[in-house]
Amino acid sequence: MRIDLHTHTDRSDGTESPGDLVRRAHAHRIDVLGLTDHDTTEGWADAVEVADELGIVLVPGIEISCTFVGYGVHLLGYLPDPTYEPLATELQRVLDGRNSRLPATLARLRDLGIDIDVHDVRRVSGETAATGRPHVADALIALGVVADRDEAFDRYLGPQGPAYVSRYAADLETMIDTVRQAGGVSVLAHPWASRHDHSALDEAGLTRLKQAGLAGVEVDHEDHAPGVRAELRALAGRLDLLTTGASDHHGTGKVGHLLGCNTTDPEQYDRLLDLAAQSAAVSGRRTPEVLRA
Ligand code: AMP
Ligand code: FE
Ligand code: FE
Ligand code: ZN
Repeated sequence: MRIDLHTHTDRSDGTESPGDLVRRAHAHRIDVLGLTDHDTTEGWADAVEVADELGIVLVPGIEISCTFVGYGVHLLGYLPDPTYEPLATELQRVLDGRNSRLPATLARLRDLGIDIDVHDVRRVSGETAATGRPHVADALIALGVVADRDEAFDRYLGPQGPAYVSRYAADLETMIDTVRQAGGVSVLAHPWASRHDHSALDEAGLTRLKQAGLAGVEVDHEDHAPGVRAELRALAGRLDLLTTGASDHHGTGKVGHLLGCNTTDPEQYDRLLDLAAQSAAVSGRRTPEVLRA
């Protein structure tokens, strides 16, 4: 059984529609696919429809932009009830923050002499519900300013770049609790990726997050070197956190993140489903009806 629990579509910063993502996953012999667009559940319905047709399991999720002691952290929330009001409200705040950051980013770029406006971004951002720097990067590519997203992040949009603007993100511990109240399960995305400062996510930090209700950590991810994976897996074992593996596929938006390039152990996936059933029972919130065996 091949299980890939972290992927994106064009409803956030991936490049495929939800239906095309599921068709591609099927072609890559994926049996269980987690759809985890940034800060939005917009892609779920279309993905489930195609997953049903093809007979693959679609695990609905969200990659939520959070902060923990001042650092940005991505939280994967699986199987939450998206109508749970505190969750919906907080996601809307994050999306509002994305939208209000965009004009500020574009103003920085214009200060740098680049002739770009919001229409240039909207032309390339398609159906996204979660506008992000990757869409600004795509606009810069279309304008011939950079060759690819990587160059756009390196030269302009990365945290040290001249066009970097921060935005609102949810408090991590509160969000872990919110996901659980919504009947879902929380897994930290790529916690030790070298691109981020992850000093807060050491043993003490993960212990604190486990106490807040964190269920697991994503271990097998392209941004984790083999030694990092081994160390994180061992720590997860000591803290009784489940471990996942996934591609973090973004279509053509991120190179080297092919569907199924990392997968989740079926036993770990079973643990995740058990925990989702538990939080659904405790919260009285139903697991979304989109899960099919
Ligand atoms: P934002 O959500 O607007 O803060 O942008 C962050 C997103 O940009 C991440 O979730 C990644 O998917 C993407 N990203 C970050 N660095 C790069 C890069 N060097 N090349 C392509 N995409 C990137
Ligand atoms: Fe992304
Ligand atoms: Fe991420
Ligand atoms: Zn992701």
